Formats: sequence, structure tokens, C-alpha cells
Amino acid sequence: MVFQDLGLDPRLLRSVQHLGFAKPTDIQQEAIPAVLVGRDLIVSSKTGSGKTLAYLLPMMQRLLKSKPLSKQDARALILAPTRELAKQVYAQLRLFIANTPVTGALIVGGENFNDQEKLLKRQPHIIVATPGRFLDHLEHKSVYIQGLELLILDEADRMLDLGFMPQLNAINKAADHRLRQTLMFSATLDHAEVDELTLSLLKNPFRVALGAGHEQHSDIAQHFMFADHLTHKEALLKHTLQHAAIKQLIIFTATRDDAERLATLCTDLGFSAMGLSARLNQGQRNSVMQQFAAGKYQVLVTTDLASRGLDLLQVSHVLNFDLPKHAEEYVHRIGRTGRAGAKGTALSFVGPKDWAALQKIEAFLRRPVTFSSISGLEARFKGEIAPAVSSPAQVTAATTTRKPSHTKPKKTPQGATKPAKRFFEGGDDGTAPVRRKKNDVN
Ligand code: AMP
Repeated sequence: MVFQDLGLDPRLLRSVQHLGFAKPTDIQQEAIPAVLVGRDLIVSSKTGSGKTLAYLLPMMQRLLKSKPLSKQDARALILAPTRELAKQVYAQLRLFIANTPVTGALIVGGENFNDQEKLLKRQPHIIVATPGRFLDHLEHKSVYIQGLELLILDEADRMLDLGFMPQLNAINKAADHRLRQTLMFSATLDHAEVDELTLSLLKNPFRVALGAGHEQHSDIAQHFMFADHLTHKEALLKHTLQHAAIKQLIIFTATRDDAERLATLCTDLGFSAMGLSARLNQGQRNSVMQQFAAGKYQVLVTTDLASRGLDLLQVSHVLNFDLPKHAEEYVHRIGRTGRAGAKGTALSFVGPKDWAALQKIEAFLRRPVTFSSISGLEARFKGEIAPAVSSPAQVTAATTTRKPSHTKPKKTPQGATKPAKRFFEGGDDGTAPVRRKKNDVN
């Protein structure tokens, strides 16, 4: 299938051509025709699969071809969990509205409310927003969405994890009419609240599930290394920086303090590095991201703030200095590399404090991970079950497969051995959705 087969407006086809895309990705092939015939949609897909265009193109087609339901109200609303993702979606949208009468606005937290109010007074047709700030404007009556034609939720699972259910419900209520089409995208559908949202927001949705979160991403080589403590992790980081062929690297850490400290460490080692954390104000965050995207820095050190959505083709390596607490986040983090057909490498350090997280990741991926080691930097820590020892000189050559600890026989109180529960009985991924009380990224 080529884009021409989708029956899109010539202006949209020109923009696609301008981007250099020859044919729709799998998810675009499935989703675009369904949206064009007016279906609601629920999509789960792996990262980097082209989901943004899967909704932007049919959304634009509908807005270009049909009369607005209301002259004043916004026609389409795209909600995203983080400011960074909203900005990225907006940047793509701008390419598609450039040669059309359709107008758009970006409304995210951290920016001046009054300026946004002025922007909304101009009655943009499409709004890309984070839920918290958008609801503020709705309540402030700077925007009306009774005539909304399309509601699009990007990374719905992440919005729910960040505690946005009340905002999403309120927004849904403000635009609740039978002509509205709703599209929902989520990395995982194994999520109780996503189910709840699907039931309350979508009408008989068309389901697209391609490349579930746990499927191995063929373009990303994943390596895991044991580490004894912080200093050991730093030595491993130093070795990686000095020996890997890095174009750009994103390092993920557990805390803001570590993000700043490791950025300094990388700089001391002669790498141009920047730290990105929620401690920076929005202007600073934008500037760090822009400079990293423009290649001014080789290394970005961040907390989970940058784990989703970022689409930077030069990122050759992702390093989990600490493992994320939530297994799905692992998939999102490593998905910052290996984008759009490029090859990427993801490396994760596993110390005693990361052990519980590793087990969740193995459970989520539905397979045990493979460990490698660097000659001279082997760890004493080997997790609960020691892997068969092998430590050749090169990282990629030295691999050991550890049995998942879940399969270890457990002793009953009486001392008898009972067979351990197998991985994924019942197909549950074992990770409860997390609800953070307060959202500091929106
Ligand atoms: P997304 O999943 O929307 O973040 O997209 C991942 C990457 O794939 C981005 O760099 C897109 O620009 C790119 N992309 C989207 N659609 C296509 C396509 N049809 N052909 C090639 N690359 C694409």
C-alpha cells in the first residue's frame, strides 16, 4: 500500500512526500482507513511505529472535507501526557496545516496563561494540549468544545498513570455528543483504567494491536550489566562512553540530583552533556531539548521526563543508569533509540537496588534478560540467582542468560518444594498501573 491508496487530500499527500515517507507504516495502514470511515479507534502499538501520523492524517482529512459542527468551537483536540510530547505532536501538525486553511494552537502547562487565552480567542481549529492546562482554560471559559469533532488521546495509559482520569472525564463531558469521533492510543491495553476509559469514551471502537509492548524490538540491541554500587555504575558508564560508537546518548536516572551529577561527570570526561529534570523551568527544558535535538549536545541525562514521545533519529544509545520502577517505562525509555528503522543500543545497569525492577521488566517482557560484563569491571552482585560465569573482554561477546527467578522452586512452610508459578499465567503482565498523586510534568 502507498499513501496515494488512502484517498487523502493532495495537500496532505504533498506534506507526506515532503517528509520523504514512501508508504504508510503497519499501524497507519490499519488505523487511517478506519478513522476515515468514521470509526472510533483504540490502538496499542510499540514505540516509534508511526502512530502520530496514524491520527494526524485522517484527522486533517476529516477537517478539510467536512463542514464544522460549530463555527466557534475547537474542531479537534489532541491530548498528550507531557509538554514535551505535546510540543512534538504540534511540530508535526504544523507541517500538515501549513498549506491549508486549518489553524492550530499548542496549550501546555508552564507557559503564560493569558497569552494562551489570547491564542484561544482566535478560535483555532485544532488544539494540542496537556490535560491539566486545557481543563483550566475550559473552566475559565477561554475555550469551548461543545462542537468538538475529534478527541484524540495520545499515550492514554501514561495520562492515567499521571492521575489525569478526572481531567479526561471532565473534558469528555464538555464535548459529549454523538457525532464526536474518539481515537485512543496506548502503549499497553493491559491496564484497568485504560479499559474504564475505553468504555466511557469510545463507541464500538475499531481495535488495532500491533507489536505489543513486550515484543522484542528488532532494531534495538538490549544489554544488561550487573553493578555493585554507584561508583561501579560510574565506572561502567565511563567505559561505555569511551568505547561505544555513540552518536547521541540519553542516560536515564532515578533522581534529579543524579541527572545533574552525571551530566557533570560526562562533561568532565570530555562529552558535551546536559541534564534535564523537572527542576528546570519550562523555558530551560525547551532550550535543553532543542539543543539536544539540534545535536549541540551528545549526551542528555534525564529522569523519566524524556522517556516518551521524543523522536530524535540521532540517538544511537540509551543507558539506564538506574532501572525504572515501572516495567512499561523500560520499553518507552529504550524506544528513544532505534527509531524509524535506525539501529540502536540500550544498556541497563542492574545493582542491588534495581533488582526488584529487573524482575518486573522480565515479567513484562515475558522472557529472562541476558547479562554481559566488561573485563576488569565484573560485578560481585549477580542478582538472586548467579549466572553461569563468563567474562570475555568485549561487552557484546560476553553474554550469560539467567533463568528468571520466578521459576525458582519455592519452599512451602513445611519445607516441601512446590513448583514455582510460571511466567504470565493468565497473560497478566504483573505490573499494577501506578497513580501518582501529584503530576509535576504537566
Ligand atoms: P511516531 O510513532 O509517531 O513517534 O513515529 C516514529 C517515527 O517514524 C518518526 O520519526 C516519524 O516521523 C516516522 N514515520 C512516521 N510515519 C512514517 C512512514 N510512513 N514512513 C517512514 N517513517 C515514518
